[in-house]
Formats: sequence, structure tokens, C-alpha cells
Amino acid sequence: MNQLSDRINNLATSATLAMAAKARELRAEGKDIIGLSLGEPDFDTPDFIKDAAIEAVNQNYNSYTPVDGYVELKEAIITKFKRDNNLSYTLPQIVVSTGAKQALYNIASVMLNEGDEVILPCPYWVSYSDIIKLNDGVPVEVKTSIENDFKMTAAQLEAAITPKTKMIWYSSPCNPSGSVYSKEELRALADVLQKHPNIYVVSDEIYEHINFKGGHFSMAEFEDMYDRTVTINGVSKAFAMTGWRIGYIGAPDWIARACNKIQGQVTSGANCIAQRAVITALEAPASCVKYMVDEFKVRRKLILDLLSEIEGFKSNEPEGAFYVFPNISAYFGKTIKGKTINNASDFSLFLLEEALVATVTGEAFGNPDCIRISYAASQEQITEAIKRIKAALS
Ligand code: PMP
Ligand code: GLU
Repeated sequence: MNQLSDRINNLATSATLAMAAKARELRAEGKDIIGLSLGEPDFDTPDFIKDAAIEAVNQNYNSYTPVDGYVELKEAIITKFKRDNNLSYTLPQIVVSTGAKQALYNIASVMLNEGDEVILPCPYWVSYSDIIKLNDGVPVEVKTSIENDFKMTAAQLEAAITPKTKMIWYSSPCNPSGSVYSKEELRALADVLQKHPNIYVVSDEIYEHINFKGGHFSMAEFEDMYDRTVTINGVSKAFAMTGWRIGYIGAPDWIARACNKIQGQVTSGANCIAQRAVITALEAPASCVKYMVDEFKVRRKLILDLLSEIEGFKSNEPEGAFYVFPNISAYFGKTIKGKTINNASDFSLFLLEEALVATVTGEAFGNPDCIRISYAASQEQITEAIKRIKAALS
């Protein structure tokens, strides 16, 4: 008999991680799967960061850290926010967590009461919706269109607000669409929020440096939004440090204090060696990781060019992150190789089984007409994957 809580029974499995696990399983069975499902840089963590970690081990950094992170790390984060984002935070406003994922969970847990609504422009990052539901919140999806580069307009935001709206969560650059909100677009959203002073914003900027057009803007840079914006960031993407598990927030101090409190009961401080290494990572200029961004840009062009040769794939041009999010609804209702494709999940499964390419269904991101393809893979893998997809569909 299922003795598990309703909470876990009602929780969806992370679609990105599930697809990565499935690809791993098939590989172990000897299948030559190309994994374009997980959003994970395929680069090694830069040597200067690894060296800092080795030094930390040798210096016997092995004890519990302060729950909200080493002061030296928080100072490096403050300097980074000032240098890269023109944001001024003080020590009590910073909390270091076990990945940006934990930072997001902390926020949901300290901000949401039962029934509080959180507006999510679709497509949104896969875990937002379930993190919100786990904390008794109600995700309110706002559909965006490819024509508007998958961005929420001020009018759409206004229409979605109800007396129960507590927060808005978005990522820019966006996972999965790669869209980047301009300063003007964020200002238009902020103008709507001026009429609703009790609504808070989570601005997830983890892809900040993977931006091909430049001009990253943080919501908290607007003076009138600073006191109600939580800025989320981390080192997983820009520094190729997904497994090190360090993320952080800059927030109003009462929110940061609450995050510190919850973290103190749930996990304590993040890993000590990883924190020491991240001090070195954040002190380095962004130019140290530019070679990765340059390579992602080349791959973006490659994958967009190759996809444009396949009928039925309609993509926006992502300006950041390392995903394409094509609309593949032209295939719905078709039967190919004896398999009927009725939705994006069927399509993604078809690609896995017939092309041996792992992608993620758009349903997990709140858009059932699309699939997400990560191009954090080598140019050879991308070329081979799209060749296989084309062959499987023709
Ligand atoms: N936000 C977004 C938009 C992401 O794509 C991810 C995935 N890495 C996260 C947060 C979580 O990142 P982390 O590895 O720091 O937990
Ligand atoms: N954020 C990455 C992705 O979207 C990593 C997987 C995860 O944390 O869910 O694929």
C-alpha cells in the first residue's frame, strides 16, 4: 500500500532529470544515445577554480560553514552584484545555498501561504511550478507566443493579477526559450507592479553571462523594484559547475533572514570546499569564461541552421542560455514509423526511440507544443543528432 504523503504523491518528477536518467539507462544497455536533454555545460570547470578547491581541501576547510555562507563568499557575491549588475547589497541580504534550486525552494517556502498565486510566464523553468505547489502555492501560467519571443507583456501580466497574486517568477535569459527581457520590457512589467505593491518578484539570472546580445538587466536595478525583488544567481552555468551545487540570492534582508532560518533547519550551509572555490570563481572577470559563451554562440547558429532544414520545426532565435525550444505541433496527429504523435511528450519519446536523441517535452515547461533541445553538447554531437532527427522524421 502506498504510505507516502499526498505531497510526494502529487509531485511530478523533474522532467529534465528524468530524461537524463533515461538516457543514461539506455546508454548502459549499449544504445548510442546523444543527450540533448540536460541543461548542463559540457565543459570542464576552469582550472583556476579547481585549484582553489584543492587548496581549500589542503587548508582543512572541513567544518560546517555559516548557514548563509562564508562571509568571504558573501563579500565576493556583493562585489559581483555591484560589478556586473549595478546592485548594492549588504551581508545580511545575501544567502548562499545548495544550488539556485535550493534558493528557489527557500523563497517559495518563506513567502507562500496556502492558495497564494505565483505568476509564471510560459514557458518557465521546469521546477518552478512544482516548487511552488510543494509550498502550497498556486502557479498561474501566462501563455506567451513565439511571435513575441516567448515574453510576457505588461498587458498579459496585468490580466493575470488577482487579489491572491503574491509573486512573479521568471528567468532571463530564459530556460527554456533563451529569451532575454530588455530593460524597457522589464520597466513595462514594473510599471504594472507599481499598482500592486504587495507583489514580489523572483528574477532568476543564472544564465546572465550566457547572453549573445549583451545588455543583461536585473529587475532590482529599478529603484522602485529593489525592495521587492529577489535576485537569484549561481555558478552552475557560467562556470560549468553544475555538480558543485552553489547558488545564491540578493534579497530584501527580511526575506534573506527567513531563507537563512529555513536553510538552518533543512540543510545547514552549502558545501565548504565548493564555497571556497566559488569565491575564486566570482572574483574572476567574466572574460575568464568567455570562451564557453563564444562556443555556445557558434553552436546556437549551427543548431538553428540545421533545424531550419527540417520541416515542421519553428523556433525563435534564443538570445541567451543554451537551449532551443522549437514548436513541433505540425507533427501532432501524424503516424511515423508506426508511432502516433499526439503531443510534445510523444514527439520527444519518438526522438529518443527512433533517433536515439534525448530532448525534453515542452509540457514540463508549460508549453505542450514545443520540445526543448539543449545545445550544451559538442558541434559533432549536435550535427549528428539533428541528422538523426531529420532521418527519423522523413
Ligand atoms: N534556474 C534555472 C533557470 C535553471 O535552468 C536551473 C538549472 N540549473 C536552476 C535554476 C538551478 O540551478 P542550480 O544548478 O544552481 O541548482
Ligand atoms: N537546469 C538544468 C535543466 O534545465 C538542469 C536540470 C535540473 O536541475 O532540472 O536541464
